[in-house]
Amino acid sequence: MTTAIENALNSAHPTNKIGATLFGTDTAGDRFFVSKTNNWPNAIDKKIGRDEKIGNSSGTIHAETACILNSPFGTENSAVCITDPFCPNCAKNIAESGIKTIYIDSKGFEKDFFKRRSGHFDTMSMQICERAGINVFAIDIEKKEITSILEIPDDYLPVEDSPIHYQEIKDANEETFKKVIQENFDLHKKRKFSTALVKDIDDNIYALTARAHAVTGYTMKDPEEAIDLLVPVGKYSFIQEPVNRLMMHMARKNLFLIYDYLFCSQVPTSREQVNLVGADVKRITIGDLQKCRDVSGLKAMKQLSNAKIIDYS
Ligand SMILES: [Zn+2]
Repeated sequence: MTTAIENALNSAHPTNKIGATLFGTDTAGDRFFVSKTNNWPNAIDKKIGRDEKIGNSSGTIHAETACILNSPFGTENSAVCITDPFCPNCAKNIAESGIKTIYIDSKGFEKDFFKRRSGHFDTMSMQICERAGINVFAIDIEKKEITSILEIPDDYLPVEDSPIHYQEIKDANEETFKKVIQENFDLHKKRKFSTALVKDIDDNIYALTARAHAVTGYTMKDPEEAIDLLVPVGKYSFIQEPVNRLMMHMARKNLFLIYDYLFCSQVPTSREQVNLVGADVKRITIGDLQKCRDVSGLKAMKQLSNAKIIDYS
């Protein structure tokens, strides 16, 4: 937490300077950590600037999401310290990346910035943690005190209606990529999905596929709950979009995207596209370039494409 607090001062954001430190144990049993601030990805900063929105999304990556996208090891079962209470989008990313514990600097609850958006923290961010099974604590650095905000029973297992699909493949090439995508079109019919060819640290290659779905821990099998989940709450939603799901899952399992082999059946949302820039993804293949959740995603695509930040094919 001390690292997160100190690092927050490096944030390029003029008013809301936020820091996060992600830490855990890798598969070899060694401790690791990564610390980030909320920031504009280099490409957006240099080619578009800080004043322009990307579609309807800010051009910044939040600190906790930046940690996930840049984690040197699998984020599953790791923990994160954040200087401020987290937004619902980061809550969804934390859930999908398998982080199990969140610590918040108790001073974060006293800032004006939090007071303005605390509603979303209570009604969405915390609900997401409860369903996904994420413990939340507040840390008072001066008093050296940790207070529990949400503790999840050890035997709690979140429901997974729509897990990420793995398909082992031999080679990552254009032909395999097209074949997998065609199979997915047949399988998912008109539903929105995203597919990526990825590699693990032992060089095994997989095609990963995700559908859009409510964040882990929520079921969409109950029609009434599904309707609730599908209705956006202001600018937030309980639905985790497929490209975002894949990126968070890759971080979770320490999988690496094989350059050029990312596909989405339609144009990703503005937020997903900004996250792609934050993850240094430079090319995406789209099924239907006219189709998007909302028009701002199409606008984001134009901006990032014109600035030559992402190549859409
Ligand atoms: Zn956030």
